[in-house]
Amino acid sequence: MSAESTLRADIVEVGRRMYARGYTASNDGNISVRLGADRLLMTPKSVCKGFMTPDMMCITDLEGRKLQGDRDPSSEMLMHLEVYRQRPDVQAVVHAHPPTATGFAVAGIPLDRAVLAEVLTTLGSIPIAEYATPSTKELPEAVRKYIKAHDGMLLANHGALTVGTDLYGAYYKMETIEHFAKISLVARMLGRENLLSREEVMRLQELRGAYGIKAPAPICAEPETDAQFTQGMDPSSGSVPDASCQVVQAPKGGGSRLVADIGRDTQLTLRLRTHSAIST
Ligand SMILES: [Zn+2]
Repeated sequence: MSAESTLRADIVEVGRRMYARGYTASNDGNISVRLGADRLLMTPKSVCKGFMTPDMMCITDLEGRKLQGDRDPSSEMLMHLEVYRQRPDVQAVVHAHPPTATGFAVAGIPLDRAVLAEVLTTLGSIPIAEYATPSTKELPEAVRKYIKAHDGMLLANHGALTVGTDLYGAYYKMETIEHFAKISLVARMLGRENLLSREEVMRLQELRGAYGIKAPAPICAEPETDAQFTQGMDPSSGSVPDASCQVVQAPKGGGSRLVADIGRDTQLTLRLRTHSAIST
């Protein structure tokens, strides 16, 4: 099979898995991959991702002009184009509405607490991009704020977005986000969510290299890096700059690697959340 036919088959398979796992309903979700330097292969609009065939895909250029395909490209094409513009390293983009992660996105609760080592090494934190009307120019603008520093994010009152250096890598990050959301929900229902200490988070960050994980940005987990925290307003310009690091909530451990849950209302956040439109 040619590279293109392999990618068409891979998109079909990832769509089937997303639908089978309940990450999409009806015609929700969309998938794209780079097809060479200046073309994209993308799911079409208005099809169920569980029942696609390789011939359904569209080929567009990086401006979104359709080059090939009987159907029109995804209604969220603008979001995909923005990701590829901002991240030359990204080869694939996956968007879905996995129910538990989307529940966090609806509740306005980012998945940014230091809880699971694997999530910290692979994704760091999972922020929430501000609400934007789907399929409009607002959505790429909301995504732009976080995409340079994150491989996965929630979309407020909408769903989740993941990217990768290949299609399966992007898809697996979607699985990781939904899995993490389920675990976080269960822990919160049980009434206790012990956190990894800041020191442990830094240790895990150092392991990224050993694991071969190329994260787009470092984890922010020191108070002195507050200046990097870009959730808040930049006092000099009054504008909201793009995120430049992965902000993780992790308390100081005082030598312990785990820190007992000190309560949802206790101030342990490391970022300036007060100015965030999605602050809880
Ligand atoms: Zn969507």
